[in-house]
Amino acid sequence: MKMRFLGAVGVVTGSCTWLRDEARGWSFLIDCGLNLDTGRVPHWTDGEWPFEPSSIQFVALTHAHLDHCGLIPLLYKRGFKGPVYCTKETQQIAMKILEEAARQSEIGYTAKEVASIVWKPFRDDLPLGQPRPVETDLFLRAYRSGHIVGAVSLAVLWGAPGPEQRSIVFSGDIGPGCEDNEGTSLIRHPWRPLPANFAVLESTYGNVVRSDEQRDSAARRATLEGFVERVVAQGGSLLLPAFALGRVQDVLFDLHVIVAKNPERFGQLKVLLDAPLASRIQPIIAEALSVSEVTGKNGKVRLRWLGKQVFRLLGLDDKDPDDIDAAIAICSQTLIEKLGAELPPVTRGNDIARNWRPLMQFPKDLGVNRDSQPKGPTVIVCGSADGENGAAAQWLPTLLVDGRNIVASTGYTPGGSVMTRLMALAATPPHERKRHTGSLEWKSGKTIRFRDIAADVARLTGYSAHADQRDLVSWMFYQHLGSNVSSAPMVFIQHGEDPQRRQLADALQKRAAELDQELTVVQPQPCSSETWYSLE
Ligand SMILES: [Zn+2]
Repeated sequence: MKMRFLGAVGVVTGSCTWLRDEARGWSFLIDCGLNLDTGRVPHWTDGEWPFEPSSIQFVALTHAHLDHCGLIPLLYKRGFKGPVYCTKETQQIAMKILEEAARQSEIGYTAKEVASIVWKPFRDDLPLGQPRPVETDLFLRAYRSGHIVGAVSLAVLWGAPGPEQRSIVFSGDIGPGCEDNEGTSLIRHPWRPLPANFAVLESTYGNVVRSDEQRDSAARRATLEGFVERVVAQGGSLLLPAFALGRVQDVLFDLHVIVAKNPERFGQLKVLLDAPLASRIQPIIAEALSVSEVTGKNGKVRLRWLGKQVFRLLGLDDKDPDDIDAAIAICSQTLIEKLGAELPPVTRGNDIARNWRPLMQFPKDLGVNRDSQPKGPTVIVCGSADGENGAAAQWLPTLLVDGRNIVASTGYTPGGSVMTRLMALAATPPHERKRHTGSLEWKSGKTIRFRDIAADVARLTGYSAHADQRDLVSWMFYQHLGSNVSSAPMVFIQHGEDPQRRQLADALQKRAAELDQELTVVQPQPCSSETWYSLE
């Protein structure tokens, strides 16, 4: 078996790794993602493709983000006929994501190719973590990665089961936090993989060590509550452009917490979801959060995706079946448009759980027009996160000129985008902005001068769905039954910019030395170097 990195090398987008075993006739891909940051580094699809798509047997997909799945329809368009292996949830969400992507003319495929994908979701009767045969003596093993619903790390195992069997584990994107301190609002903690011969580790935040406060969900909710408090006092609007998959749901959940904690003060707040893609994804996420499975050999039943942090926050017991039903009902009330309002109030748990009410409303139902300031205190969660497209591109020119409003970014935005340019003003008071001669422009032709921006501009931090350096190191080296375990003696660092990769490599070497373990760290070079790594 050998491996070649096609994408997400020195960057954080376009994940694609090619595995080949000529003797056994295998050729397959782990992820096949779209490059969302075109122009900065060469991408393997820029010129002639390095393989004939019809010669690829299958794609194994870690999760439904476009930078991991976004080229799959193009693969089919060019002759690929094999299946895509992934979790059932990743299949369902990826379909919505890819259907949306196919609407963009520059993407190079249409809804027809999206519909032609041959999905082979992992069988539901086999818990995550069990090896799944894909060819004779070739297996996949999935570990929940704590990043978004459906996301897994994937181990590839080849050879007959036994001591001679070889393996490599691909982290995919790993979520923040650990078993008793998950970093996202809803998703259960990432699993540590069983030891393999090789690992491929993401390094998006390989140079970041978050402080305890930055890891604390209460601290980020307090920031959000501060914004809500101000727009309630001022009768203004809080605009939160956010990623449809993951970030919108985390923010919505926290808005519900804030109102349930203080229904008297915030009861009149309107919460508008103006993100059609998020609306289409959320019923799938709500359904997934209700799924449980038997894990391990001791017969314990555990929720597959819904995290313990939800139970701690709501004063519910994650081992009590009635409390589990209450937590699931709360997630449904938060995420599902129609069903949410029909569910009876929860009568278990703490005051937050008992005061939980569905808040989500939709512009179409309220007759809200994006060209005018909404009446009364309103939070608008919308796409796109970079402010360039979708509802955000219409709301921003309307809301930025009114001093009662707050516009806050909810996470990473690409350089040069509207939200990045806007956030550069975060520390500039309105009277200083008056001296700024620049402006923001949208494709619609709308434009707004910086000097006319009266709204407050702020950052809502702490919502990252990515592990930091500490989390990544503890994915590689962890304790099990009192012993130190290493995920692999050789690790390839992928999915990170060069400074991030270097600093993660240093941190991994340091930890290995502390544990007196041998570790080889490889930082593969961008796809233009046609390097194959032997895995034998
Ligand atoms: Zn991702």
